[in-house]
Amino acid sequence: MRRKLAAGNWKMNGDSATLDELATLAQRHAEASVDLLICPPATLISRAVSCAGPIRIGGQDCHAAPSGAHTGDISAAQLRDAGATAVILGHSERREDHDEDSDQVREKARAAHAADLLTVICLGESLAQREAQNTLDIIGAQLALSVPDSATGENTVIAYEPIWAIGTGLVPDTDQIGEVHDFIRARLERRFGAGVGRSVRLLYGGSVKPENAASIFAVSNVDGALVGGASLKAADFSPIVSAL
Ligand code: PEP
Repeated sequence: MRRKLAAGNWKMNGDSATLDELATLAQRHAEASVDLLICPPATLISRAVSCAGPIRIGGQDCHAAPSGAHTGDISAAQLRDAGATAVILGHSERREDHDEDSDQVREKARAAHAADLLTVICLGESLAQREAQNTLDIIGAQLALSVPDSATGENTVIAYEPIWAIGTGLVPDTDQIGEVHDFIRARLERRFGAGVGRSVRLLYGGSVKPENAASIFAVSNVDGALVGGASLKAADFSPIVSAL
């Protein structure tokens, strides 16, 4: 049985005051029967850990190397040292803004696993790719290359995030979400066998809000959500957690 996961990505938003939202969330869901993860900007990680209660704290990216001359980057071990226990990798904003490809995402994931971080590996098609009916080919290729052989149900989560749904208010219909999630599950089972393939959690991400969360969570092979904008305020994120 896969435990549900509600994950929040604060992106480059938030400051010390935003940690009050985290503390409120931690209080409200102190007895949660689902897993919660918040990924604040790196500057807030260690302070976030001290007010997060049962909520895991994660980074939004890490470097593939353990240390070295990489100005501005953070290694997986440094995230761990700051108190993070997870990291988002391959978000479309990293892939687009920093030209990251799936090979780099896989190397980062390998480093994150070695540092004992839960990796949330993001995949997603553009609108042009969906309209050209290439969604499953794109997702299949990203999945094959981005996920390292070290993946298990304990250290890896996959987030399906259609690029055109992120921050736009547009959401695929539930059949479209189900089609991609079932496809990812089948591919994972084929590559890793039924044990690992069925234990990796699959999140949907892209304009998840309190109003649409329950219908998305009812879709087959949706084990939770990766939430951007609606994770910044406890009043928005909390009902999403409760819908799981
Ligand atoms: C995201 O950036 O991962 C995301 C899903 O954003 P939003 O929920 O704001 O669409």
